[in-house]
Amino acid sequence: MKIIEIREQTKPIQSSIRNAYIDFSKMTLSLVAVVTDVIRDGKPVIGYGFNSNGRYGQGALMRERFLPRIQEADPASLLDAERDNIDPHKVWATMMTNEKPGGHGERSVAVGTIDMAVWDAVAKIEGKPLFQLLAERYGNGRADRKVFVYAAGGYYWPGQGLEGLEREMRGYLDRGYSVVKKKIGGASLAEDCKRIEAVLRLLGPGQKLAVDANGRFDLKTAIAYAKALSQYDLFWYEEAGDPLDYALQAELAQHYAGPMATGENLFSMQDARNLIRYGGMRPDRDWLQFDCALSYGLVEYLRTLEMLKAHGWSASRCVPHGGHQMSLAIAAGLGLGGNESYPDLFQPYGGFPDGVKVDNGYVTLPELPGIGFEGKADLYAQMKGLAG
Ligand SMILES: [Mg+2]
Repeated sequence: MKIIEIREQTKPIQSSIRNAYIDFSKMTLSLVAVVTDVIRDGKPVIGYGFNSNGRYGQGALMRERFLPRIQEADPASLLDAERDNIDPHKVWATMMTNEKPGGHGERSVAVGTIDMAVWDAVAKIEGKPLFQLLAERYGNGRADRKVFVYAAGGYYWPGQGLEGLEREMRGYLDRGYSVVKKKIGGASLAEDCKRIEAVLRLLGPGQKLAVDANGRFDLKTAIAYAKALSQYDLFWYEEAGDPLDYALQAELAQHYAGPMATGENLFSMQDARNLIRYGGMRPDRDWLQFDCALSYGLVEYLRTLEMLKAHGWSASRCVPHGGHQMSLAIAAGLGLGGNESYPDLFQPYGGFPDGVKVDNGYVTLPELPGIGFEGKADLYAQMKGLAG
């Protein structure tokens, strides 16, 4: 059993939206196919992966460092000693040969993207959904296919107005979402409050709004927003300050009693641990958004979950960034609190298998082998195009 070839390609996911920090007019991602010599149903097993929106394609790093290390390794050194399968932990360690500690963002996206494709292949070789494999190997044995999802949108875009924002948010509620998210920090505080109130007027019983500043604020602004946001009953106040400013996050907790969320721009277990140690995050109400597709993949995410447990945090406080099916599988297999979803953005990479509907804020994952990409026709068309 071995990996025959790994292909990668940079794909566009541009759109004319912006958050408080960047616009997405030139956004790309890397798509990866791990081709194995294992035959299932008369065809070679191929695992697929891609990185989440926001960090661009990673092809150069993959071609120069990570793919050659896998290809040059003795195939037997990448196999699972206990099962007839490839071992994602060994593939991960091979990729990380001759890499210094620290400086994680430099390579964590490239490694995480390949790691996703390896897990997809491993679950397909085992002939089961990844969520089932994860529940058996690392969880309590039982996956819960029903996963909470929220609709992320509410970006700033030209000519939007309050009407455009309301139309977008109403569209998410009509599609079955119970929590919607909009951006803040891309306009004045007064303007943002008007936008928030416009969305709040659309919400019915049991429906909530989350807001996301994308790390834009200094402490003074973060506190000014915290005071203004305290008048609303928000689902969460996300990424107020710089992702690495743990003192800001800790201080902010003194000014905002409601739930806060952060972590999508922390790219290793060690960075996540610093947030937990020094960021003042509260395990009874706050949310953690580490995204495996940007942060060394599931091999590292398992370490992060271990770290959280050791610090008294439940996995159910994790609602990853990114809106991809990999985090849906982890949520179903290991009991995360849910997953982000971008109903109208970053297609065809985000979203759910075809036919999966959001019902009162939850989706139920179908029983597809691997991560489940084959169940999403537009996405699988891109993947098949790469694998040939
Ligand atoms: Mg965010």
